[in-house]
Amino acid sequence: PNPERDRLLQAYEWTAKLYHYLLKNTEHGKAAMDYLRQRGFTDKMIDLFQIGYAPDTWNTLVQFLSRRSFDLEEAEKGGLLTKRSDSGDYLDRFRDRIMFPIHDRSGKVIAFAGRILGEGQPKYLNSPESKLFNKSRTLYNLHQARPSIRKSRQIVLFEGYGDVISAWEAGVQNGVATMGTSLTENHASLMKTMADEVLVCYDGDRAGQAAAMKVIPLLENVGLNIRIAVLSDGLDPDEFIRKYGAERFMRQIIEGAVSTTKFKLIYLKKNHILLEEDGKIAYMKEVLPIIAVLPSSTEREVYLRELSSELQLSFDSLKQDCNEIRQSMQKNM
Ligand code: ATP
Ligand code: MN
Ligand code: MN
Ligand code: MN
Repeated sequence: PNPERDRLLQAYEWTAKLYHYLLKNTEHGKAAMDYLRQRGFTDKMIDLFQIGYAPDTWNTLVQFLSRRSFDLEEAEKGGLLTKRSDSGDYLDRFRDRIMFPIHDRSGKVIAFAGRILGEGQPKYLNSPESKLFNKSRTLYNLHQARPSIRKSRQIVLFEGYGDVISAWEAGVQNGVATMGTSLTENHASLMKTMADEVLVCYDGDRAGQAAAMKVIPLLENVGLNIRIAVLSDGLDPDEFIRKYGAERFMRQIIEGAVSTTKFKLIYLKKNHILLEEDGKIAYMKEVLPIIAVLPSSTEREVYLRELSSELQLSFDSLKQDCNEIRQSMQKNM
């Protein structure tokens, strides 16, 4: 039993309810509601994900918690309030932001991510880590995704809250996101306890695709199978769904997800001009070692054949180079 922890959980639950109510039922929340609607959020998703609004005031939450006799110092330590260093007065931490509650595995609210309405910095403001909230162990939407993850033994990993929500509505019920872009070893081990495969569905911009390259070894290290969704034109999954619809997202992006090897080939290709000899050779030098480490010879053949037709080079010479790299790797083991 941990009474302080229970009180903080209670405060988070109340606060999530307050923000959700303010968004839906008050004049304060109108601009936020307009913003969400204009982005395509439906009432159903706003309710399911308990989205809310923290008003543009300094003490709405302070007063709400005091009226319920909640210890404000505990709320400050727990990340709901801040404290003025000069006067010692407590203030609401989140002001004029769309509030996404973050739940633990069992569905209790343990933190918030607050998005600014429109442009501005910081775009997202997260609750600080607390007794309840450890960023590197938390996955957004895990509590709602668990039944589907258990059934499919698969997790779809997104970068952002909006991606998880839009994909849910499009039909992906096993989607989660990290709090920010960096996935930790803790996240990877946690995912391994529930699933056999992770489908990485990061943003189609450079940062997102680079982040996808980085999570591959982390997921491989815990023995998860990996597939990668390839989004183009810099769109993120949420934007893709808004632009092209749910059906095309499910078919092209989710079902069309590729192997890690294929993804690496696509990713590295962008750095080279394949019409020029130098570019072709540089690309080949980056890519052959990736193919050479594949344990299955048929698998190596598949990629070498693709490379051969793409680069207009003979399969035999590619295969020979690949085998040489493979032998020199084995010598060094
Ligand atoms: P939106 O669609 O609302 O613009 P997004 O999820 O597409 O947001 P990205 O810029 O793609 O936002 O960033 C991906 C994720 O990285 C965000 O969902 C958020 O978790 C995190 N993130 C982005 N900017 C910040 C920030 N300034 N502070 C903390 N986390 C951030
Ligand atoms: Mn991004
Ligand atoms: Mn994004
Ligand atoms: Mn987005």
